[in-house]
Amino acid sequence: MQKDNLVYVSSGKAKDIYENSNGTLIFEFTDRVTAFDGKKKSECNEKGEITCKVAEYWFKILEKNGIPTHYIECPTSTSMIVKRLDIVPVEVIWRNYAAGSLLRRYEAGDIILPEGVEPKEGSPIPGGMIEFTTKFEAVDRPVSIDEILSNSWLSKEEVDYITDLTKRINEIMAQELATSGIILADFKVEYGRTSDGEIILADEAGTPDGCRFWMKNDFEKGIITSLDKDVFRKDTGDLTLAYRELFNKLQRTNM
Ligand code: ADP
Ligand code: UDP
Repeated sequence: MQKDNLVYVSSGKAKDIYENSNGTLIFEFTDRVTAFDGKKKSECNEKGEITCKVAEYWFKILEKNGIPTHYIECPTSTSMIVKRLDIVPVEVIWRNYAAGSLLRRYEAGDIILPEGVEPKEGSPIPGGMIEFTTKFEAVDRPVSIDEILSNSWLSKEEVDYITDLTKRINEIMAQELATSGIILADFKVEYGRTSDGEIILADEAGTPDGCRFWMKNDFEKGIITSLDKDVFRKDTGDLTLAYRELFNKLQRTNM
């Protein structure tokens, strides 16, 4: 990507951000991979390209289904132009199955699980559940709706709106993935405000960096096969192969 006429803004854990002369942002998806709040780090061949293409794939589907997003276009295979937003200071997690930090917090005695949910990876969560975590603290921390409201991070109406959008995103993605034989176990999304105050979907959506994807045929045999960043978190295989397999499965049924 030609960067001469761009202004460098910042680098996150996975993406470098530049500003265009017209005020839009350009994300450069890199091969960097991190886990456990950045404590585990590596580089993974092709990851930038695959996550960019998967994010583009989902933004187009979500837009088509009426979800407002910041996506504009992908000028190269690793870069994406988006509307610049004022990012909402909470991250939003949707869970269809028990995994990850939900189980860690249960095991530490910090939370009780929703009614009917077994304390085991892969246990279904009837109706799903939403959680919020901090966005701009050193380590992401789960926050209650009361804390979000008392800090004026969002209004009650905005919490309801974001909850509704996230639920719809879950339905759209889970339905699409089912046609590819993939279960959407959980995911994280971020939202931002436009200059008009509208809240729209930001960052990246539906990528293996921010979702847990499980192979349905294995899951039915009681085996969890991940096509997402858990391969890196748990050191269970080749991350590039897992990400490539996810992308190929999405493409096969939908492109
Ligand atoms: P992180 O280190 O926060 O995980 P990334 O490497 O993914 O981040 O970099 C992307 C950063 O850009 C994130 O901090 C995200 O909140 C922010 N961001 C995402 N979309 C927008 C947007 N439309 N406008 C401004 N900032 C954004
Ligand atoms: N997630 C993410 N970024 C974060 C935290 C979580 O993309 O900073 C995603 C994660 O990949 C998973 C979902 O959100 O798909 C739920 O993550 P969880 O809270 O279980 O935490 P983790 O096990 O990833 O630490």
